[in-house]
Parts: sequence; structure tokens; C-alpha cells
Amino acid sequence: MDYQHNFKKKFGQNFLNDENILNKIVKESEIPEDTLVIEIGPGAGALTSKLKDVAKNVLAYEIDLDLQNILIDKFKENKNVTFIWEDFLNRNIKEDIKDYNNKHIFVVANIPYYITTPIVEKIINSGVDVEKVVIMVQKEVGDRFSAKPGNKEYGSISVFLNYYYDIKELFIVSKNCFIPRPNVDSVILSLDKRKDKPNVKDENLLFRLIKDSFRFKRKNLRNNLKEYDLLKIEEILKKYNKDLTSRAETLDLEVFIDIANNI
Ligand code: SAM
Repeated sequence: MDYQHNFKKKFGQNFLNDENILNKIVKESEIPEDTLVIEIGPGAGALTSKLKDVAKNVLAYEIDLDLQNILIDKFKENKNVTFIWEDFLNRNIKEDIKDYNNKHIFVVANIPYYITTPIVEKIINSGVDVEKVVIMVQKEVGDRFSAKPGNKEYGSISVFLNYYYDIKELFIVSKNCFIPRPNVDSVILSLDKRKDKPNVKDENLLFRLIKDSFRFKRKNLRNNLKEYDLLKIEEILKKYNKDLTSRAETLDLEVFIDIANNI
């Protein structure tokens, strides 16, 4: 470590301190040359340093103003790195990137874990065409995000994310690779924007159906979807060899879409 910093728990500050892992994140992100990489929470710039060498532009959002001196000094020669000193969640990303004209937009970041889901939702709802998101998350969260039907981790968030992305766990990162050391291991997730985004008549209805289907984990569809047209749902489920006694955790995104499009 070549800097002095008082780490702040409230900002989820666990800085990566492992060259191999940093290199591996950048390598496995497969960043094309003409890419704008958005980084959320550069910290002391360990990942930023690697990103600036492969991406044409890096735009990093950092909330902790105590890191300003370190970051400005470290990247003073790098015209392709820009910082926005504010809460990422309060920004209008579309507005922030309007002067960039890169061919590709990626998000690559070791994000603050206390706002993992809000960050992902913000990216999805930003109106920006983000091609790929490579983020570090807590192992347990990564397992949920990337779970497939039938897996006990599979829940409404897995289905919701699968609507937008193909999700993969790239590799696990031990808690020993951070300063300060967190309590749990992490995993690098890659979320590739789906090129074949399914046809959905009413997204709000689909998302409500998914949420309601998983409302009580141990209950079956008949119990969780009492307010819906159960006869119609049963008819659709038949096509997939399922019925109202099935549980949501056994259903693919495709089934939820079929139901939402036909009720
Ligand atoms: N990327 C660095 C690394 O890998 O060493 C730091 C990662 S640390 C887990 C998360 C970073 O996000 C911290 O620098 C923290 O100050 C910053 N952060 C926390 N909340 C933020 C927010 N709402 N907007 C922008 N940055 C935030």
C-alpha cells in the first residue's frame, strides 16, 4: 500500500490488494479497445490503474472525498480517466456520458456491497446501453444472482436478472485479498447483456408475477398466486409439465413470460 487512508465501513471500503486478482478481473472482462468503462467506487485506484491501460476511457464515481488527493495525484497524467465525486446512485448516467462516443460501454467494478442490488438496478434502468457488467459481489449474493431453476438459491432476483443478462460466476476471490479483510469471500460476476431479449407485452406485469410467485418460498404457485387467473395459469403450466402444485423455484424465465403474456 503506497497511501494513507482511514477506511470507512459506512462506504463498504474493502480495497483489493492482490495484483493477480486485479489482472484477472481485467483480463476476463475482455474489454474491446474502443470502450468506455464505468467504475463505481475506485477506492485508491487499484483497479482503475489496470482499466486505464486497456480501455479507451474510464469514468469512475467515488463518494469518499478523502480519496480525492490520492486519486487525482495517481492519475494526473492519464487523460483517459475522469472522476465524478458523488454518490453513483444519485447521478444521471446518461447525462454523465453524453460526451463520450465509444463503441462499447462496460461497467467493471469492485462495488460497495451495501448497495449491490441498487447499483445493478440503477444500471438496468439508466437507459444506457451497457454491454457487459463485471462486478465483485459477496459469494452468497453471486450465487443468488446466477442461480438456475431447481437450485435452492434460485429466487425472484435470479429470474429478474436473467431477463436482461446472461450471468456467470467468473471466479472466487478470497477475503484475504482485501484491506481491511471482510468476513466473507467474494465472487466476480459477469453479466452479459442478452442479445435475444425475450418478447414481453407488459414488463411491470411480468415483474409483479415473478415477485408474487416467490412471495412465500415454501408455498406452491396455487397459494402464492391466489389473486391471479389460476385456470389460465394451470393451462400454460401444462405445456411445461408443471401444475399449480409446482413451486416458483422450478420455473424458467420463459414460463413466467408465457404466463405474463397470456393472462
Ligand atoms: N475499487 C476499489 C478496490 O477494488 O480497491 C475500492 C472498492 S471498495 C469495495 C468500494 C468503493 O466504493 C469505496 O471506495 C467507497 O468509498 C466507494 N463507494 C461507496 N459507496 C459509493 C457510492 N454510493 N457511490 C460511489 N462510490 C461509492
